[in-house]
Amino acid sequence: ASRGVQALKAYDPGHDLVALRRRFGAAQLVELGSNENPYGPSPVARAAVLDRLHELHRYPDPLGADLKRALARVHGVREDELLLGNGSHELLMMIAQVFAGPGAEVVYPRHGFAVFALAAQAAGATSRVADALPRTDAMPAGHDLEALLAAITPATTLLYLANPNNPTGTWLGAEALRAFLARVPDHVIVVFDEAYAEMADAPDYRSGLALRDAHPNLVISRTFSKAYGLAGLRVGYFVAPAGLMAVMERVRESFNVNLLALAACEAALGDAEHLAWVRARNAEERTALGEALRARGLRVFPSQTNFVLVEFGERTSAVERALVERGVILRPMGGYGLGDCLRITVGTRDENRRLLAALDEVLA
Ligand code: PMP
Repeated sequence: ASRGVQALKAYDPGHDLVALRRRFGAAQLVELGSNENPYGPSPVARAAVLDRLHELHRYPDPLGADLKRALARVHGVREDELLLGNGSHELLMMIAQVFAGPGAEVVYPRHGFAVFALAAQAAGATSRVADALPRTDAMPAGHDLEALLAAITPATTLLYLANPNNPTGTWLGAEALRAFLARVPDHVIVVFDEAYAEMADAPDYRSGLALRDAHPNLVISRTFSKAYGLAGLRVGYFVAPAGLMAVMERVRESFNVNLLALAACEAALGDAEHLAWVRARNAEERTALGEALRARGLRVFPSQTNFVLVEFGERTSAVERALVERGVILRPMGGYGLGDCLRITVGTRDENRRLLAALDEVLA
């Protein structure tokens, strides 16, 4: 293996969920570790999957033309500005393979999504990690845009930034991002990972889709895994300048998005009502969960996602282990340099209630 690959650690999903589901029973387990959508997809997406079951012996459309057409309509972009992936994870890896490599530098923030580091290392590129803003009493250990700019060199080919961010849940406002993009040299490909964009409702939040005029090489990454509730089908996509997408198309595996996934996502895009409902439910539960945790004396990062990052201090791993024993799965953050925090997916009202009840036992 290459030196970059030899130095890699495999992606850590946090827990052996298969074993835990067997132990507690899937219905008893409160799974709040992976930022999934607890409500599931639109019923029309489910129906579209069932509709295609008679076609399983056929290859899917290698171009994903119908889904691309639907996405182009939803976002007001051209179809040649879209690239479909087997989850956005695949595309985040692929872009480093194509545009970074030995000799190239990849910039991303500390406390950024784990796949950025993996992608850079697997490609054999050099990582330049920009420090985050310090955590204060007011909290935000948010991205430091000045530090990101300072990390860019003539060898930088790629810069990753998630907005809103996983694992902190924090976000950057549109004005700051526009000014930032104007200062990033044109040769750098800027990837805005917007896996949680549909969950954001802060007045100053804007998708990078509204900032595409601010940089010639801006790539927006989206996913059907979160707000659309289709994590199990694995579909993500990029919106970017056609020239960049044409180069990536050359290395994309022809059938990377499967038949059922293409059908489900196209149908899901047609159900704006379900998406709006998920968004509203999530916002309501996010506020309630944040308040309940703060009422227990815990520090909660402000979030524009479907999870909250919570500071537990020295008790963190003891709390996490005790919750697992009660069938409540949260995500430990040691791998992100946030070992005194746990990341909690916003569940249904009932799941959040069960989490809080277990937490009260553990903290008592
Ligand atoms: N980006 C971010 C910030 C994420 O949190 C996730 C999922 N945890 C992904 C990308 C990957 O999502 P998927 O591969 O399911 O599209």
